[in-house]
Amino acid sequence: MEMIANYHTHTKRCHHAIGEDEDYVKAAIKMGLKTLGFSDHSPWNYQSGFKPRMRMELKEFEGYLKSIRELKVKYADKINILVGVEAEYFPEYMEWFRNFKKEYELDYVLFGNHFYPDDEKGRYFGRACDDDDFLKVYVNNCIDGLNTGLYNYLAHPDLFMRSRDYFDEMCLWASEKICAYAKERDVILEYNLEGLRNGSYGYEIGYPSVDFWKVAQKYKVKAIVGVDAHDPRSLENSERIDYAYQFLNSLGLEVVKELKL
Ligand SMILES: [Zn+2]
Ligand SMILES: [Zn+2]
Repeated sequence: MEMIANYHTHTKRCHHAIGEDEDYVKAAIKMGLKTLGFSDHSPWNYQSGFKPRMRMELKEFEGYLKSIRELKVKYADKINILVGVEAEYFPEYMEWFRNFKKEYELDYVLFGNHFYPDDEKGRYFGRACDDDDFLKVYVNNCIDGLNTGLYNYLAHPDLFMRSRDYFDEMCLWASEKICAYAKERDVILEYNLEGLRNGSYGYEIGYPSVDFWKVAQKYKVKAIVGVDAHDPRSLENSERIDYAYQFLNSLGLEVVKELKL
């Protein structure tokens, strides 16, 4: 297996992942990974007291950190464990988030751009990008978010394909915008394995999108493979992981194996 580090790992705290934290660590060790990074969906300080359905609450965060940091010590001789988050770009909360990242000394932050303007008041890009105007919002939100310099890579840049029936002119426009930006600013784009969970290798719609990655090839972006594990068994799916590396290698893309943190 070509993978030596996976930075995209969830925990059951996000309400749509299963297994114990330690099960993810055991699976990563079994597969011979050098580094396992946890990046559960970041909590936010919703002003209204909104209870999110797809991420932990703020009050659960310290328990998350404590659990992962204990595992880091327990398995220190077997694997390097990092603790980060997968975070959104919610314009009105970014000052808070910047302080949050610093206060808890997170190892890294992945940019998972799922909602606008947030998951309390907004829509999910994976469902609502069938609307061309909302696809433009997705692209702008990716770029505004990346401009903050807070994130170590852009997760599933082609998430919008989840709500499109086929790769049309608008999808091409969105892909070109994202890839041109990534090339210019040296942003790493993630080939996300969670999108392949149905075994839809090479499938024309959904994500990862073959057409999006052809645009990435044209712009010679840097790629990274992210398991986006919501189940410890995803880390053990070497067939799927190998497929991703073979695909990216076939495009001649530079594949980042480890982040410089
Ligand atoms: Zn995500
Ligand atoms: Zn994720």
